[in-house]
Amino acid sequence: MTDQEGVIQFQLSHLFTPPLSLGQLGELIAWRRILYQLQLIGEDPLRYAGYGFGNISQRIPQVPAITSRPFIITGTQTGGFSELAPEQFTTVTECFPEQNRVTSTGPIKPSSEAMTHATLYEVDSELRVVMHVHSPHIWRSAAQLGLPVTTAAAGCGTTAMADAVREVMTQPLTRALGLFVMGGHEDGVVSFARTADQAGVALISVLARAYQVC
Ligand SMILES: [Zn+2]
Repeated sequence: MTDQEGVIQFQLSHLFTPPLSLGQLGELIAWRRILYQLQLIGEDPLRYAGYGFGNISQRIPQVPAITSRPFIITGTQTGGFSELAPEQFTTVTECFPEQNRVTSTGPIKPSSEAMTHATLYEVDSELRVVMHVHSPHIWRSAAQLGLPVTTAAAGCGTTAMADAVREVMTQPLTRALGLFVMGGHEDGVVSFARTADQAGVALISVLARAYQVC
């Protein structure tokens, strides 16, 4: 498998349905806007062959009758928009990393990195928000800052990355920071938390540390 930004590497079963309501998406839209302004999510002809980069997701509150834990995620190739609308979010209803398979429903296909998000939600049932951004500063200063890093052999959106995420999540430091760096995915950084505020602040705090050494 190659590690190409923005290209879906898993088998996708997608059902096109109308968008979610603005009320369900307010927090995601707000944090996505901040991450875009910080150039942690975006689209740039000079970066990653012009593919959009970065994505954000939020788990839907548990419904007792449903055993699966769906989550809302930004759609594929939405990095170029400064602000997102409900049409640019979709719901991942099922994910099977072992089979490299994702099922989703919504007005747009999910981000190519949906499987990385799904793996985090699978590892920790308390997580509610995952942010995947691209930061050259954090990525390059990972060793200097002592940040947890996934194996360089694992590309994005793959079964190998799912395994790498499970491994890095066993490290107490990863849990303490609420963040890790993707060794096999250029500039890739992931933060996660029970709330969007916690995930966003974890990311920005590490960015501040990276700016000081980079
Ligand atoms: Zn990425």
